Amino acid sequence: MKVLRAKVLGFCMGVRRAVEMTEAELAGPEQVYTMGPLIHNPQTLAFLADRGVRILDEADLEKPGRDFRNGALIIRAHGISPGMEKKLLLRGARRRDGRKEPAFRIVDATCPRVKASQLAARSLAERGYLIFLAGERDHAEIQGIYGYVLTGKDGDSGGGKTRSGAVDKDSSKAGSETGKVPADKSFFPCIIVGSPEEAEAAARTVLNEAPENFFPKTALIGQTTISETEYSDIAAALAKSFPNLEVQRTICGATRDRQNALRELCSPADALIIAGGRNSANTRRLLSIARECGKPAWLAESAADLPVEAGAYSVVGLSAGASTPDSVIDEIEQALLYLNKGKEHA
Ligand code: SF4
Repeated sequence: MKVLRAKVLGFCMGVRRAVEMTEAELAGPEQVYTMGPLIHNPQTLAFLADRGVRILDEADLEKPGRDFRNGALIIRAHGISPGMEKKLLLRGARRRDGRKEPAFRIVDATCPRVKASQLAARSLAERGYLIFLAGERDHAEIQGIYGYVLTGKDGDSGGGKTRSGAVDKDSSKAGSETGKVPADKSFFPCIIVGSPEEAEAAARTVLNEAPENFFPKTALIGQTTISETEYSDIAAALAKSFPNLEVQRTICGATRDRQNALRELCSPADALIIAGGRNSANTRRLLSIARECGKPAWLAESAADLPVEAGAYSVVGLSAGASTPDSVIDEIEQALLYLNKGKEHA
């Protein structure tokens, strides 16, 4: 059997950086925490848990009696909102160069590309733009960027006078789900749209309900992992109502590069394996693309998931999602070759 690896597969730059920063912290004396699961990969999470990494969520911060002294708190590649950061600082966190009271030390592993989107959102809000944010409403990255829009309006890193900087689902409804444009000019809305249809509906609402020229400037920011087709369809839907819409180039090439590299395997491979976590959206998307090739295709979180029949093919293409570590890719490749040997000797 020949295993053909995709030219681009596995960890993207942002995920690799976050994992390496976490590993570096593990070498230190502090208890290491992550704000939510670091990545969507069960083996990496189990490995980090074995080494003592603890996952926190917002509720943990509120619990009385929790002692976070001498802890290093890693912010994931998706980033957090300024409001959440303020909450952490109130809970006793300090930045890397911080001083005095020992509590959390924040280690910001936000991917530089996500950080660029956050800062673009803040800058546009400061300059008075109405911002459309294309992506999954409940995704951590979108929630974080949304928080930057809110704080960009009044320059308060912890949330404004009118709204908490923490991501507040109700406040996101102010512009999106309820279709209401707030009359209070001190709150500049950011409207999250998940599809071209939602974008059209949101644009209609703004035109119907906002006073004329209330929003002279509009911009669109996309989740870094949104598909290019979907992003341009959303942009086209909005441009019908806002011809001067400024479309920010925020899509990260990592997803596209993995998808294109997988497509290159469609022709030479007899079957395809996608290595990665089942709860990783980009891994599942790779599996759909593999199936579109018309070849047998499977998703394997680990070598144990490989079907025996995968060992029967002469050429197997191997790809992996952006949160799949090298060790899992290697293990799956070895297991494939082993399965094939078993077939040869059967
Ligand atoms: S997919 Fe792109 S934006 Fe997201 S973490 Fe990876 S490199 Fe960063």
